[in-house]
Amino acid sequence: MLQKQFLKSVLNGINLEPTDEQLGKLSAYFDMVVEKNKQFNLTAITDENDFVVKHYEDSLFGASEIPVGARVLDIGCGGGFPCVPLAIMRPDLQIVGLDSTAKKVVFVSESARALGLDNLTTVAGRAEEQRVMYGVFDAVTARAVSSLPVLLELVAPMLKVGGRFVAYKTDEMELAQAKNAQKVLNLQFDHSKVGTLSNGERRAILVFKKTGATPPQYPRQYGTIKKKPL
Ligand code: SAH
Repeated sequence: MLQKQFLKSVLNGINLEPTDEQLGKLSAYFDMVVEKNKQFNLTAITDENDFVVKHYEDSLFGASEIPVGARVLDIGCGGGFPCVPLAIMRPDLQIVGLDSTAKKVVFVSESARALGLDNLTTVAGRAEEQRVMYGVFDAVTARAVSSLPVLLELVAPMLKVGGRFVAYKTDEMELAQAKNAQKVLNLQFDHSKVGTLSNGERRAILVFKKTGATPPQYPRQYGTIKKKPL
């Protein structure tokens, strides 16, 4: 069980006002992750207060950058971050959690059902192989998945023109190496939201906007993307 008062005060600190029901769901999800973590690795963070800050505060620090009512894809959602806290705190969003590791996706989808989150569905598979998702989303999120040039290539096709990529990063350093990828993919850096978590760690949410169609040769196969990032 999480200390709900601590959770509440941390979320208040990022301008969120969780209801008792939302606090209950966040607390229940912590229990589910810790339990499932005994079977296979979902997270190295199981200390209660660390979990609140490093998973919940961090996942929700980017919430303000996601437009109201958006269809959202969370690429590489792993154990459900940021998609689960976002689905709990933002019932206006329709979120798809995507991960290449099927057992993680099964866990997220079973948890979403148990928590009554009807705004969160999941897909097991690799981002670069999901052609049916092209042009579908208003926003894409990704936390701790890959370097920025690689991510931009995975993300660009999924967005509608005008849609935004909300990248969870520690700072703006990686932007320099993603200049060419932005240009080639028509996915331009728009602004960032920089701040510190309650434990003093720096965070930067980098927001990109899709300004035009993605050239049809992208995304390439994952091996090529990794070996020769744009
Ligand atoms: N976003 C989660 C998990 C990060 S670990 C969190 O912040 O806690 C990175 C995850 O990305 C892994 O679960 C891995 O399976 C997934 N992943 C990496 N490359 C991927 C790809 N090309 N398509 C889909 N999932 C991918």
